[in-house]
Amino acid sequence: MTTITSFDTATSTVDQLRAIGREFHSRSWSLGTSSNYSVVSSRDPLELLITASGKDKSALGPDDFVRVDSMGRVIDGSTRKSSAETLLHCLIADLVPALGGGPVGAVLHTHSVWSTILSRADLVAGSLRIEGYEMLKGLEGIGTHDTIEDVPIFANGQDMTELAGRIRDRFTTADWSNPKRPPCHGFLLSGHGLYTWGQSLAEARRHIEIHEFLFEVVARGRMLASATHHERP
Ligand SMILES: [Zn+2]
Repeated sequence: MTTITSFDTATSTVDQLRAIGREFHSRSWSLGTSSNYSVVSSRDPLELLITASGKDKSALGPDDFVRVDSMGRVIDGSTRKSSAETLLHCLIADLVPALGGGPVGAVLHTHSVWSTILSRADLVAGSLRIEGYEMLKGLEGIGTHDTIEDVPIFANGQDMTELAGRIRDRFTTADWSNPKRPPCHGFLLSGHGLYTWGQSLAEARRHIEIHEFLFEVVARGRMLASATHHERP
């Protein structure tokens, strides 16, 4: 099992993204060719370095990344295609700082079991409520367990322009006035997975790990409560 314990600033961004792929695959958050990862390589104009489409995340090579502009167009002259969900990475990198949510340096997306299950179960509610857990403090800006994190859930879709529009609409109506306490640190696509971000790649990676822990706790907690309920005479 490959585990990232620290981020060496001397290690190239590509090598860090490859290490994230190996780690997330080993932890069952990025199986097969699922998931995609990006870093903001330029802010003005906005450019992202993002995983190329259809690459096995356990074995990302040095050439399995492409540079894209703010519209998700490949701009490095290569013929490789960027991830199918590139537009969502561009949206987050552009929208979250514009709304006052602080700078975004990296966007990570995973397809875990628990995020897949919970995002379907709570789609009608529109968000997944996580409340009262110590591990919430792993999300940037949260300093107490005594808080509520509502992770927005969007119906899944294959039309990225339409999906990006729905996310934009909901995000722009949320309260982003406190940059130290954004309304959310990520969102779920129903039956699909998690998107989260961070000021740095290390922070985005931590946000994946924290969200995934909390999802598992919530899901297992519900299963336990259900089993206990059924066992009662
Ligand atoms: Zn996906």
